[in-house]
Amino acid sequence: MEKTEGIVLRAIDYGETNKIVTLLTAKYGKIAVLAKGANKPQSRFFSVCQPFVHGQWLVYGGNSGMFSASQAEVLDSFRAIREDLYLSAYAVCMAELADLIFVEREPIPGSFPLLLHMFRHLVAGKDPDILLRIFESKMWFAAGIQPNLTECAHCGNRLDVAVRFSIRLAGPLCQPCHEADPIAIWMKPATHKLLRLFQIVDIARLGQVKVGEDVKLQLDKIHRQYLEEQGGISLKSRQFLDQLNKYGLHH
Ligand SMILES: [Zn+2]
Repeated sequence: MEKTEGIVLRAIDYGETNKIVTLLTAKYGKIAVLAKGANKPQSRFFSVCQPFVHGQWLVYGGNSGMFSASQAEVLDSFRAIREDLYLSAYAVCMAELADLIFVEREPIPGSFPLLLHMFRHLVAGKDPDILLRIFESKMWFAAGIQPNLTECAHCGNRLDVAVRFSIRLAGPLCQPCHEADPIAIWMKPATHKLLRLFQIVDIARLGQVKVGEDVKLQLDKIHRQYLEEQGGISLKSRQFLDQLNKYGLHH
């Protein structure tokens, strides 16, 4: 028997009554756990297997294959996220990204508390766009594709001011080098500053970050393309979020 805290990244039905949940755990990193009977509403696993739930798990059998759940209890249900279409759209993006980046049973220190803080900040009303950007930035690091933001990606000089971000060259460009990549994305100094802040920010102490819409759009464009080009990852759940934002359904 092993005890570990975990957050549900996703859950799929297995047979008529069981679920296989993918958890991000503090101890083992990402793991798959068979929860027998979890599809029945009266099951003791029913609540703890819902998306985003932070739970305390007692699991067994991990040596010979998939873990099975012995006991589990809810520590934080994050109901406020699940009951809000908009917040859950962001949480789904984070969960999908974590699921894609993390390798099973290869724990990366700090990744569990990072996701936990993300969900807490979502509930607390912090700007979800900024939270998602910070999470993406930390996932670049976990995936080993973190850009160097202090030097020009073309000439290598230390940057005071960057004017564009080159996805292909995986970094910012200084003014004299701005044509090194003709399709590099133009960015304001504030955008560059935030990209750097996202890399170093301590998520546990995150204050309110005020960001203009134009800077937000630049960040969104850079982050999205960077993850696709450098990480080979296109989030399915991003389409839903895009639809929500397009129709202005957020509050
Ligand atoms: Zn340069």
